[in-house]
Amino acid sequence: MVKAEGVHKSFGPVEVLKGIDLEVRSGEVFCLIGPSGSGKSTFLRCINHLEKINAGRLYVDGELVGYRQKGDKLYELKDSEVALKRRDIGMVFQRFNLFPHMTAVENVMEAPVQVKGVSKSQARQRALELLDRVGLADKAGSYPSQLSGGQQQRVAIARALAMDPKLMLFDEPTSALDPELVGDVLDVMRDLAESGMTMIVVTHEMGFAREVGDSLVFMDGGVVVESGHPREVLTNPQHERTKSFLSKVL
Ligand code: ATP
Ligand code: MG
Repeated sequence: MVKAEGVHKSFGPVEVLKGIDLEVRSGEVFCLIGPSGSGKSTFLRCINHLEKINAGRLYVDGELVGYRQKGDKLYELKDSEVALKRRDIGMVFQRFNLFPHMTAVENVMEAPVQVKGVSKSQARQRALELLDRVGLADKAGSYPSQLSGGQQQRVAIARALAMDPKLMLFDEPTSALDPELVGDVLDVMRDLAESGMTMIVVTHEMGFAREVGDSLVFMDGGVVVESGHPREVLTNPQHERTKSFLSKVL
Protein backbone atom coordinates (compact mmCIF):
# COMPACT_ATOMS: atom_id res chain seq x y z
CA MET A 1 0.00 0.00 0.00
CA VAL A 2 2.91 2.36 0.77
CA LYS A 3 6.40 1.96 -0.58
CA ALA A 4 9.33 4.29 0.12
CA GLU A 5 12.56 3.96 -1.82
CA GLY A 6 15.40 6.23 -0.78
CA VAL A 7 13.05 9.01 0.26
CA HIS A 8 14.84 12.28 1.01
CA LYS A 9 13.32 15.47 2.36
CA SER A 10 15.15 18.68 3.19
CA PHE A 11 13.96 22.00 4.53
CA GLY A 12 16.46 24.46 3.09
CA PRO A 13 19.89 23.19 4.06
CA VAL A 14 18.52 20.82 6.72
CA GLU A 15 18.13 17.25 5.57
CA VAL A 16 15.39 15.67 7.65
CA LEU A 17 14.75 12.40 5.79
CA LYS A 18 18.00 10.85 4.60
CA GLY A 19 16.88 7.93 2.51
CA ILE A 20 13.89 6.10 3.92
CA ASP A 21 13.20 2.61 2.58
CA LEU A 22 10.18 0.75 3.80
CA GLU A 23 7.06 -1.03 2.67
CA VAL A 24 3.62 -1.08 4.26
CA ARG A 25 1.44 -3.92 3.09
CA SER A 26 -2.29 -3.65 2.58
CA GLY A 27 -4.27 -4.26 5.77
CA GLU A 28 -1.22 -3.88 7.95
CA VAL A 29 -0.80 -1.85 11.15
CA PHE A 30 2.59 -0.26 10.72
CA CYS A 31 4.02 1.46 13.79
CA LEU A 32 6.66 4.14 13.57
CA ILE A 33 8.68 5.08 16.64
CA GLY A 34 11.71 7.24 17.25
CA PRO A 35 13.04 10.22 19.18
CA SER A 36 11.77 13.75 18.76
CA GLY A 37 13.04 15.33 15.57
CA SER A 38 13.80 12.02 13.87
CA GLY A 39 11.44 12.83 10.99
CA LYS A 40 8.37 10.75 11.79
CA SER A 41 5.82 13.51 11.22
CA THR A 42 7.67 14.72 8.15
CA PHE A 43 7.47 11.24 6.67
CA LEU A 44 3.71 11.02 7.30
CA ARG A 45 3.29 14.48 5.80
CA CYS A 46 5.12 13.36 2.67
CA ILE A 47 2.79 10.37 2.31
CA ASN A 48 -0.19 12.70 2.66
CA HIS A 49 1.06 15.25 0.11
CA LEU A 50 1.60 17.92 2.75
CA GLU A 51 5.32 17.96 1.86
CA LYS A 52 7.07 17.13 -1.41
CA ILE A 53 10.02 14.78 -1.30
CA ASN A 54 13.34 15.91 -2.85
CA ALA A 55 14.69 12.56 -3.97
CA GLY A 56 13.76 8.91 -4.06
CA ARG A 57 10.37 7.45 -4.79
CA LEU A 58 7.27 7.26 -2.67
CA TYR A 59 4.25 5.22 -3.77
CA VAL A 60 0.76 4.93 -2.33
CA ASP A 61 -1.33 2.13 -3.75
CA GLY A 62 1.12 1.73 -6.62
CA GLU A 63 1.00 5.40 -7.63
CA LEU A 64 3.82 7.92 -7.25
CA VAL A 65 3.14 10.54 -4.60
CA GLY A 66 3.38 14.15 -5.77
CA TYR A 67 4.80 13.39 -9.20
CA ARG A 68 3.96 11.82 -12.52
CA GLN A 69 6.60 9.86 -14.34
CA LYS A 70 7.03 10.13 -18.11
CA GLY A 71 10.00 8.18 -19.40
CA ASP A 72 12.84 9.04 -17.05
CA LYS A 73 11.41 12.40 -16.11
CA LEU A 74 9.25 13.36 -13.17
CA TYR A 75 6.64 16.10 -13.36
CA GLU A 76 5.03 17.67 -10.31
CA LEU A 77 1.31 16.99 -10.00
CA LYS A 78 -1.10 19.90 -10.22
CA ASP A 79 -2.90 20.99 -7.06
CA SER A 80 -6.17 19.58 -8.38
CA GLU A 81 -4.55 16.18 -8.96
CA VAL A 82 -3.05 16.22 -5.48
CA ALA A 83 -6.43 17.08 -3.97
CA LEU A 84 -7.99 14.04 -5.65
CA LYS A 85 -5.31 11.72 -4.27
CA ARG A 86 -5.50 13.16 -0.77
CA ARG A 87 -9.14 12.10 -0.55
CA ASP A 88 -8.02 8.51 -0.19
CA ILE A 89 -5.83 9.14 2.83
CA GLY A 90 -7.19 9.90 6.29
CA MET A 91 -4.99 11.63 8.83
CA VAL A 92 -5.38 12.06 12.56
CA PHE A 93 -3.07 14.46 14.37
CA GLN A 94 -1.93 14.88 17.93
CA ARG A 95 -4.18 17.92 18.21
CA PHE A 96 -7.73 17.15 17.20
CA ASN A 97 -8.22 20.03 14.74
CA LEU A 98 -12.00 19.84 14.78
CA PHE A 99 -13.99 22.81 13.49
CA PRO A 100 -14.97 24.51 16.76
CA HIS A 101 -18.18 26.08 15.43
CA MET A 102 -19.59 22.76 14.21
CA THR A 103 -21.15 19.92 16.19
CA ALA A 104 -19.60 16.46 16.16
CA VAL A 105 -21.94 15.21 13.43
CA GLU A 106 -21.38 18.35 11.34
CA ASN A 107 -17.61 17.89 11.63
CA VAL A 108 -17.90 14.34 10.34
CA MET A 109 -20.29 15.30 7.49
CA GLU A 110 -18.27 18.27 6.28
CA ALA A 111 -15.78 16.67 3.89
CA PRO A 112 -18.15 14.19 2.21
CA VAL A 113 -20.58 17.05 1.51
CA GLN A 114 -18.02 19.70 0.50
CA VAL A 115 -15.44 17.54 -1.25
CA LYS A 116 -17.40 14.58 -2.59
CA GLY A 117 -20.76 16.24 -3.13
CA VAL A 118 -22.63 13.67 -1.04
CA SER A 119 -26.14 14.83 -0.13
CA LYS A 120 -26.52 16.24 3.37
CA SER A 121 -29.04 13.64 4.47
CA GLN A 122 -26.86 10.79 3.28
CA ALA A 123 -23.75 12.31 4.84
CA ARG A 124 -25.54 12.84 8.14
CA GLN A 125 -26.74 9.25 8.27
CA ARG A 126 -23.25 7.94 7.58
CA ALA A 127 -21.75 10.37 10.12
CA LEU A 128 -24.13 9.10 12.79
CA GLU A 129 -23.11 5.53 12.01
CA LEU A 130 -19.45 6.47 12.29
CA LEU A 131 -20.00 8.30 15.57
CA ASP A 132 -21.72 5.18 16.84
CA ARG A 133 -18.75 3.12 15.73
CA VAL A 134 -16.37 5.27 17.80
CA GLY A 135 -18.70 5.10 20.79
CA LEU A 136 -20.12 8.62 20.53
CA ALA A 137 -23.67 8.10 19.28
CA ASP A 138 -24.95 10.26 22.13
CA LYS A 139 -22.57 13.15 21.38
CA ALA A 140 -23.60 13.90 17.80
CA GLY A 141 -25.03 17.30 18.72
CA SER A 142 -22.15 18.37 20.99
CA TYR A 143 -19.61 21.02 20.06
CA PRO A 144 -15.89 20.21 20.41
CA SER A 145 -15.63 22.47 23.47
CA GLN A 146 -18.23 20.27 25.18
CA LEU A 147 -16.23 17.09 24.58
CA SER A 148 -13.20 15.63 26.36
CA GLY A 149 -9.92 15.37 24.48
CA GLY A 150 -10.45 11.64 23.98
CA GLN A 151 -13.96 12.22 22.63
CA GLN A 152 -12.70 14.93 20.30
CA GLN A 153 -10.01 12.59 19.03
CA ARG A 154 -12.60 9.90 18.34
CA VAL A 155 -14.67 12.44 16.39
CA ALA A 156 -11.50 13.24 14.44
CA ILE A 157 -11.11 9.55 13.61
CA ALA A 158 -14.77 9.33 12.52
CA ARG A 159 -14.25 12.44 10.39
CA ALA A 160 -11.28 10.86 8.63
CA LEU A 161 -13.21 7.62 8.07
CA ALA A 162 -16.13 9.51 6.52
CA MET A 163 -14.07 9.91 3.34
CA ASP A 164 -13.67 6.11 3.04
CA PRO A 165 -9.87 6.28 3.00
CA LYS A 166 -7.79 3.33 1.90
CA LEU A 167 -5.02 4.38 4.24
CA MET A 168 -5.12 5.99 7.68
CA LEU A 169 -2.19 7.94 9.13
CA PHE A 170 -2.03 8.60 12.86
CA ASP A 171 0.53 11.06 14.22
CA GLU A 172 0.79 10.53 17.98
CA PRO A 173 -3.00 10.46 18.30
CA THR A 174 -2.96 9.92 22.06
CA SER A 175 0.02 11.92 23.24
CA ALA A 176 -1.98 15.08 23.99
CA LEU A 177 -4.54 13.18 26.05
CA ASP A 178 -4.89 12.71 29.77
CA PRO A 179 -3.83 9.14 30.59
CA GLU A 180 -7.34 7.99 31.49
CA LEU A 181 -8.63 8.99 28.03
CA VAL A 182 -5.97 7.17 26.01
CA GLY A 183 -7.57 3.73 26.26
CA ASP A 184 -10.82 4.66 24.51
CA VAL A 185 -8.94 6.09 21.53
CA LEU A 186 -6.65 3.06 21.30
CA ASP A 187 -9.72 0.79 21.45
CA VAL A 188 -11.19 2.59 18.43
CA MET A 189 -7.88 2.19 16.60
CA ARG A 190 -7.77 -1.49 17.50
CA ASP A 191 -11.29 -2.00 16.09
CA LEU A 192 -10.25 -0.21 12.95
CA ALA A 193 -7.20 -2.46 12.62
CA GLU A 194 -9.39 -5.53 13.03
CA SER A 195 -11.66 -4.28 10.26
CA GLY A 196 -8.65 -4.55 7.92
CA MET A 197 -7.73 -0.89 7.53
CA THR A 198 -4.15 -0.14 6.50
CA MET A 199 -2.73 2.09 9.21
CA ILE A 200 0.54 3.88 9.80
CA VAL A 201 0.76 4.86 13.43
CA VAL A 202 3.39 7.13 14.97
CA THR A 203 3.10 6.40 18.65
CA HIS A 204 4.81 6.15 22.00
CA GLU A 205 2.24 3.57 23.11
CA MET A 206 4.45 0.50 23.06
CA GLY A 207 1.67 -1.69 24.42
CA PHE A 208 -0.48 -0.83 21.40
CA ALA A 209 2.46 -1.41 19.05
CA ARG A 210 3.15 -4.79 20.58
CA GLU A 211 -0.45 -6.00 20.65
CA VAL A 212 -1.89 -4.48 17.49
CA GLY A 213 1.10 -3.73 15.28
CA ASP A 214 2.15 -6.02 12.45
CA SER A 215 5.40 -4.18 11.78
CA LEU A 216 7.46 -1.68 13.68
CA VAL A 217 10.11 0.70 12.45
CA PHE A 218 12.52 2.60 14.66
CA MET A 219 13.66 5.84 13.03
CA ASP A 220 16.48 8.07 14.20
CA GLY A 221 18.13 11.00 12.48
CA GLY A 222 16.06 10.63 9.32
CA VAL A 223 16.88 7.00 8.63
CA VAL A 224 15.32 3.64 9.47
CA VAL A 225 17.60 2.15 12.09
CA GLU A 226 15.74 -1.08 12.72
CA SER A 227 12.53 -2.77 11.68
CA GLY A 228 10.69 -6.00 12.21
CA HIS A 229 7.80 -7.54 14.04
CA PRO A 230 6.94 -5.30 17.02
CA ARG A 231 7.47 -8.04 19.57
CA GLU A 232 10.91 -8.82 18.15
CA VAL A 233 12.08 -5.22 17.97
CA LEU A 234 10.68 -4.31 21.38
CA THR A 235 11.97 -7.34 23.25
CA ASN A 236 15.18 -7.97 21.35
CA PRO A 237 16.43 -4.75 19.75
CA GLN A 238 19.62 -5.20 17.75
CA HIS A 239 21.00 -1.68 17.54
CA GLU A 240 22.43 0.44 20.35
CA ARG A 241 20.30 3.42 19.34
CA THR A 242 17.13 1.32 19.49
CA LYS A 243 18.12 -0.09 22.87
CA SER A 244 18.85 3.32 24.27
CA PHE A 245 15.55 4.78 22.96
CA LEU A 246 13.49 1.86 24.27
CA SER A 247 15.14 2.03 27.69
CA LYS A 248 13.73 5.55 27.96
CA VAL A 249 10.18 4.87 26.78
CA LEU A 250 9.43 1.35 28.03
P1 ATP B 1 8.36 14.59 17.33
O1 ATP B 1 8.48 13.25 17.99
O2 ATP B 1 8.86 15.68 18.20
O3 ATP B 1 7.00 14.86 16.78
P2 ATP B 1 9.28 14.00 14.61
O4 ATP B 1 10.04 12.73 14.54
O5 ATP B 1 7.86 13.95 14.20
O6 ATP B 1 9.42 14.58 16.09
P3 ATP B 1 9.55 16.00 12.59
O7 ATP B 1 8.44 16.84 13.05
O8 ATP B 1 9.35 15.20 11.37
O9 ATP B 1 10.08 15.05 13.75
O10 ATP B 1 10.78 16.97 12.41
C1 ATP B 1 12.06 16.52 11.99
C2 ATP B 1 12.97 17.71 11.82
O11 ATP B 1 12.52 18.49 10.71
C3 ATP B 1 13.02 18.65 13.00
O12 ATP B 1 14.35 19.01 13.22
C4 ATP B 1 12.18 19.82 12.56
O13 ATP B 1 12.65 21.01 13.14
C5 ATP B 1 12.39 19.83 11.06
N1 ATP B 1 11.23 20.40 10.35
C6 ATP B 1 10.00 19.85 10.27
N2 ATP B 1 9.17 20.60 9.53
C7 ATP B 1 9.91 21.66 9.11
C8 ATP B 1 9.63 22.81 8.29
N3 ATP B 1 8.41 23.00 7.74
N4 ATP B 1 10.63 23.69 8.10
C9 ATP B 1 11.85 23.49 8.63
N5 ATP B 1 12.18 22.44 9.40
C10 ATP B 1 11.23 21.53 9.63
MG1 MG C 1 6.07 14.43 15.14
